[in-house]
Amino acid sequence: MNIQVLGCSGGLSDKNGSTCIQIGDYALIDAGTGLSSLTIEAMRKIRYIVLTHSHMDHIAALPLFLSNMFENVDHQVQVFAQAHTIETLKTNIFNDNIWPDFTQFPSAEAPIVEFIEIAPGDTFTLASPEQQNAQIHVFAVDHTVPTMGVSVRMQNQHFVFSSDTTEGPIFDNALAEVSKLAPVDTLMLECSFTNNKHDLAVHTKHMTPKMLKGTLTRMQQMPKNLWISHLKPSSGDALVAEVLALAKEFQNEIDVVLLQQS
Ligand SMILES: [Zn+2]
Ligand SMILES: [Zn+2]
Repeated sequence: MNIQVLGCSGGLSDKNGSTCIQIGDYALIDAGTGLSSLTIEAMRKIRYIVLTHSHMDHIAALPLFLSNMFENVDHQVQVFAQAHTIETLKTNIFNDNIWPDFTQFPSAEAPIVEFIEIAPGDTFTLASPEQQNAQIHVFAVDHTVPTMGVSVRMQNQHFVFSSDTTEGPIFDNALAEVSKLAPVDTLMLECSFTNNKHDLAVHTKHMTPKMLKGTLTRMQQMPKNLWISHLKPSSGDALVAEVLALAKEFQNEIDVVLLQQS
């Protein structure tokens, strides 16, 4: 399976764009500023985008990306998202004030983008003309707005992305359910704040290293690889140190990678 993390910062950083994960060369999960690391030729190959939720760090590059798709592109871009995400984007971004309503451009009959409503629990296929298809399953996680984690199965590999979530029974149950589809090879989890910001993490429904550790230890079967992402740049080196200490604790059980650079 070819998964490229184009960006996974929880904010604006000179090291790493915000969340955008590429599947093969034809699909994306989220459209944060990491998307800007693709060349225009690579952008033109994108057919599908799965949006996990409406927050800025996950959608920031979508409007500008779509305006690159007017010329020399023979396909429509299909954006899969929950009703809340689609409604939020249409009302606040693609409203002909902030940015054009691309669902009507260049014409209502053949627009460059189609928003396709999906809901937690849905399973669908992203078909590729040249590469192996990706089986996608989306599941509800526990964040401040309706948010979905994403499972990708492709070439007998299983990649699971938490998106933004806090710890607790909702996320634990989601991981247990998604593990029934196939054992998880790679789990990409978020970790936004240092342990001393526990209250902030609870309030904003994110994770600290301690919460992440709790989640891992409650898993019936640990993944082979753990990718830790979504560090808030404002948390700085203190958070990096806490995440690295956590990685050391699990080093005999899981291959842990801290994603900091695109
Ligand atoms: Zn985020
Ligand atoms: Zn968020």
